[in-house]
Amino acid sequence: MDLFEYQGKQYFAQFGISVSPGGVADTVDEAVAAAEQAGYPVVVKAQVKVGGRGKAGGIKLADNAEEVRLHAGNILGMDIKGHVVRRLWVEHSSDIAKEYYASFTLDRPNKCHLGMLSKEGGVEIEVVAEENPDAIAKISIDPIVGLTLEAATAWVAAANLDEEAREQAAQLLVKLYTCYVEGDCDLAEINPLILTTDGKVHALDAKVTLDDNASFRHPEWVDFAWGETEDVREQMAKEKGLNYIGLDGTVGIIANGAGLAMSTLDVVNQVGGSAANFLDIGGGASPDVMAAALEVINSDPKVKAIFVNIFGGITKVDDVANGILEALRRVSIAAPIVLRLDGTNAAEGRALLQPHLNDQLIAEPTMLDAARRAVALAGK
Ligand code: GDP
Ligand code: MG
Repeated sequence: MDLFEYQGKQYFAQFGISVSPGGVADTVDEAVAAAEQAGYPVVVKAQVKVGGRGKAGGIKLADNAEEVRLHAGNILGMDIKGHVVRRLWVEHSSDIAKEYYASFTLDRPNKCHLGMLSKEGGVEIEVVAEENPDAIAKISIDPIVGLTLEAATAWVAAANLDEEAREQAAQLLVKLYTCYVEGDCDLAEINPLILTTDGKVHALDAKVTLDDNASFRHPEWVDFAWGETEDVREQMAKEKGLNYIGLDGTVGIIANGAGLAMSTLDVVNQVGGSAANFLDIGGGASPDVMAAALEVINSDPKVKAIFVNIFGGITKVDDVANGILEALRRVSIAAPIVLRLDGTNAAEGRALLQPHLNDQLIAEPTMLDAARRAVALAGK
């Protein structure tokens, strides 16, 4: 889950990282109240989960209540790269001497954490990486060892940060690393990390991605749910414990195994259709799981055909066939279902289904045939 800037800053603050005082606002009046609290001058910042807000006009300085009203009024409701602004973060404005960049993320191939630090902050790091790669000081961190203050001190020197910023920056980076690890982040990024004109180093922006797989040990993360535009289908699937991702097409997909589910999306695409979802029901394909899967897909009004693609490995196709029949007794499905069942006990499974086949329940011998049939049924 990605956090909004203000949530990221709240998270940072819990780990002792210096951020500016401020408050959230969903209306112009609330923005003025937050500004009074933070103290003028303030900066009014659009809260959307996308970068480049500054360039898009979503970040404005204000010296008084009148200016806050003007900017808050303009920014609320603004569309930034397809994200509509519903909330503002209003914080006390900083006097910037220097803008740096700092982040931690996972370096999968090297099985370690990657820290990136640059004195060329404030702009997109991809641009720096492209135009001036030497300006990014990278550090590989062994997760067992962690980031020591010594290593951080050497790192800020390697990044050639301004002398007066180095000590504070090193300390802040250690805290950011702790936030990244103990806070279970996939990404903790500060851009810009600033040096103020009065010699303070602090986080002016926050980009945090939490590792959803760690949510079980962070009950407090529910506080970050605001503005999560979760798909109702995905919400329903989550409640039913399914591995579901909503898409925009018309062919509902049920497959067992993530690989087969991905291939199913590809083959539907290949024959000119579009998938309405990704759904991996895993092994087993019990009536409960199958019924839950069909219910979620059935709730999607865009779905015009359902493609059930099962390859029985350990799971036996006759068990799957029974599961499908039982599920169909429990839920009534609007769209026609096209089945492709193969693998262990395929013949037995198909024989079980044979008497039940009709216009609404169709069996095809291969994945490609089934995809073609489902796409044809889904129409254009
Ligand atoms: P982003 O454009 O979405 O990355 O938003 P940021 O929070 O990084 O802000 C973009 C830019 O706005 C920063 O790089 C700063 O130059 C400027 N900015 C943000 N906050 C302040 C502030 O408190 N004071 C001043 N002077 N500029 C700010
Ligand atoms: Mg930024």
